[in-house]
Amino acid sequence: MPDTTRRPFRGGSRVLLHPSRAEVFSNDAAISWVGRVAACLRSCSCLFFLGLGLGIFTASSRPVAAKVSAQRFEYSLPRMGTIFRIEMYAASDVDASKAAEAAFSRAEELEQIMSDYRADSELMLLMRDGATAPFPVSSDLYSVLAKSLWVSRLSRGAFDVSIGPLVDLWRNARKSGRLPDPEEIAKAKALVDYRNIELDPVHHTVFLKRAGMKLDLGAIGKGYAADQMLAVLQSQGIHQTMVVAGGEVVTGEPPPGSSGWRVRIDSADSDAGVAPCTLLLSAHAVSTSGDEHQFLEVNGHRYSHIINPRTGWALEGKSSTTVIARDSATADALATAFSTMSVSDGIRVAQSLPGVSALWVRRVGGEWKYYTSRGFPASCHGLPEGSQ
Ligand code: ADP
Ligand code: MG
Repeated sequence: MPDTTRRPFRGGSRVLLHPSRAEVFSNDAAISWVGRVAACLRSCSCLFFLGLGLGIFTASSRPVAAKVSAQRFEYSLPRMGTIFRIEMYAASDVDASKAAEAAFSRAEELEQIMSDYRADSELMLLMRDGATAPFPVSSDLYSVLAKSLWVSRLSRGAFDVSIGPLVDLWRNARKSGRLPDPEEIAKAKALVDYRNIELDPVHHTVFLKRAGMKLDLGAIGKGYAADQMLAVLQSQGIHQTMVVAGGEVVTGEPPPGSSGWRVRIDSADSDAGVAPCTLLLSAHAVSTSGDEHQFLEVNGHRYSHIINPRTGWALEGKSSTTVIARDSATADALATAFSTMSVSDGIRVAQSLPGVSALWVRRVGGEWKYYTSRGFPASCHGLPEGSQ
């Protein structure tokens, strides 16, 4: 099987914003694995990028007439191993491209902090030196780790940002097509425990209590970047905007004359002919974690890129989990956390958090089952009756 492993936080660093005429515009943000490909294929800049396989990139900017004075603009660039996209309404081309450029620069800055592919990223330096003595970190790295630990505690370790050694093992398994052996799993698992990450809020340091620990921001970094990009756009006076970072979507105010941004969710059942659901979103984020894009198949068993930190084993079977939250880092991390928890535990946690709701799509006994926590929008037409 070809390796479809995510290439996190790799990409170009130059921002080029120029018009693209070939692009067909849509303000539907498609999320999840299918969505990522679909969103990518809709963008000619992305086609260019994928088609030529080059480390350089382009972005598209294309105004579309709106009923009010603001015009619609769309920009996309590769960031963090995937495509990031901004849609916005702005008064002029100049305002729009200035704001987009600032937002993409912010994403680039975060990539340099959080990448586990760039040897000189702040995260890599922390992993190199943070087990010897408390390591001073930037406020971004501190914030993303603090949020990670919050989700770890909420999920009782179902989400664990120290999952790195197990991620490496399963990434190699996807490459070789062979399951990791149980001894290797046990060895890697022994290094995974978020409680061994010590944050000092006064000195802004991080201490890794065990040598050999490896942090992985794959389940929260893109969401954090999306939030930060939205904040930059807002600080530049752009409020009617949506940021799509790979599969992570965060929205500001709705487009003119509309009550929200239309976001399509392709969940695990999408290829079984179930209509995808569409959400109308504003001032919220949504994230879907599923196993479809990156998986390993051995002896008829299918292993996801999401790992259960308690067992060290990748999740099995087809499923997806969609989370709505007020910010994208929370939605991103909770979608991964809820993927590895039981549905009932997930519902309990979701319902304890303001602004959070979720949809679980599971294959049970050969049938698709749907579960939602309180508050998940009824507008999701893909949901069969009585899914609550
Ligand atoms: P995607 O990256 O496709 O959006 P997720 O947000 O669910 O999907 O993140 C999955 C990534 O998170 C994995 O590729 C891995 O790097 C990391 N990861 C896997 N399992 C866990 C876990 N239990 N807790 C935290 N991070 C995880
Ligand atoms: Mg996630």
